[in-house]
Amino acid sequence: MPIATTNPATGQVLKTYEAMSDEQIDAAIERADLAFRQLRETTIAQRARWLTAAADLLDAERDETARLMTTEMGKTYAAAKAEVTKCATACRFYADNAPGMLADEPADAAAVKAKRAYVRYQPIGPVLAVMPWNFPLWQVMRFAAPALMAGNTGLLKHASNVPQTALYLEDLFRRAGFPEGAFTTLLVGSDAVDRILSDPRVRAATLTGSEPAGRSIAQIAGREIKKTVLELGGSDPFVVMPSADLDTAAEVATTARCQNNGQSCIAAKRFIVHTDVFDAFAEKFAARMAALRVGDPMDDGTDVGPLASERGRDEVHAQVTDAVDQGATVLCGGEKPAGDGWYYPPTVVTDLRPEMRMWSEEVFGPVAGLYRVGSYDEAIEVANGTSFGLGSNAWTNDPAEQERFAVDLDAGNVFINGMTTSYPELPFGGVKNSGYGRELSAAGMREFCNTKTVWIGEGEAGAGAGAHSE
Ligand code: NAP
Repeated sequence: MPIATTNPATGQVLKTYEAMSDEQIDAAIERADLAFRQLRETTIAQRARWLTAAADLLDAERDETARLMTTEMGKTYAAAKAEVTKCATACRFYADNAPGMLADEPADAAAVKAKRAYVRYQPIGPVLAVMPWNFPLWQVMRFAAPALMAGNTGLLKHASNVPQTALYLEDLFRRAGFPEGAFTTLLVGSDAVDRILSDPRVRAATLTGSEPAGRSIAQIAGREIKKTVLELGGSDPFVVMPSADLDTAAEVATTARCQNNGQSCIAAKRFIVHTDVFDAFAEKFAARMAALRVGDPMDDGTDVGPLASERGRDEVHAQVTDAVDQGATVLCGGEKPAGDGWYYPPTVVTDLRPEMRMWSEEVFGPVAGLYRVGSYDEAIEVANGTSFGLGSNAWTNDPAEQERFAVDLDAGNVFINGMTTSYPELPFGGVKNSGYGRELSAAGMREFCNTKTVWIGEGEAGAGAGAHSE
């Protein structure tokens, strides 16, 4: 894939970049390794000051950074501005809370026959981050903020269609005060990932992206015995039960499916509705989806901009066409528009069956699959009947049912009567083919820490006798 900025609203190539040479990659890894030695000696308070400075820069540069993202991948300008603000919030969250998250944790010294015992969280070194284009700032920030706070350094291989946002991120952390090499953008294609992750100086990798990319990185990391966090695709269920407030559910369903032009891993993608309220919900939902304004992402009045690439739009349309050809019903949308830009209309498809691609595949665009179910048990069966397990939503005002959904939905998160989203305060990640490991919260920060056991004894012979020794 060429490394280039191509405006999805027009299809125009605005800027192209040469991929870095092997020598340049090597020099960048060397700088990241040297910066790690420097960073791990700095205090948490110093790193917090730098991260707060990054937050201040993000706030001050919000509009121009947002314009860059909209130009590179087509999200609406309003959504892009909100993304910049969310990144600043995450930086401040880690600057404020890292001291507590990284503090030594005392253990019961008597129980482990020590004078003193505790757990210490230490950084591990340069971490490779392979990132997607859909939230070009936020996906990187939710790795970078906790990783830098912990004292690790970052090597970013961003998606090939967002090079300018990638370069902005390197520049941001440098201007915020982090040492040279603490955060480096590598302008490389995915073919360079094996070489980078195999380098002994690179200690771990995090990937947010598709399942095939996840499998590829996990194989390399397995061979090299390196830690990975994988945030992969999702086909989140959005279950609507008879006790739900249907108007609110339909309103939130529309946002949950079409936010970011339908290109979010945690977008609700499969709408599983109890038969008692199916027709009423379908009507309200399809009407709202059809009313969304598709157009220039820079316009204030636009709800849905173009998809990020022509290939992405073709794929979404092929999935819809496959379902229609096999008997599915389109309630709204479903036609690929003519003209410039990679636009696709908000679409609702029902009468889906397991042999259709939409049943089992992730649809990365503003297309909703609508499923009719007859009971709670059937709703769970359809919701969990996928290889993915990222987010999940259930709409019910029955308290007992709320508790059951929280237990029974097989996903990394369950949101009841609300849209799945990410917060710095809460762990984020998936199960099954949606990946493993967690980002955000203390859990995310500790993924790239050495959880070190420290045991200090009196030095008497026989200490620890009777315990297992491996
Ligand atoms: P993608 O094709 O997997 O690309 C993501 C990143 O991986 C890019 O930097 C890409 O580089 C790189 N890459 C692709 N194939 C690779 C390989 N074989 N080895 C190493 N690196 C490779 O994904 P996408 O289509 O851009 O993004 C959409 C996918 O990401 C969806 O499945 C979505 O659900 C998922 N996603 C998941 C989360 C989450 O938190 N779980 C969040 C956002 C998106 P190039 O650009 O150079 O190809």
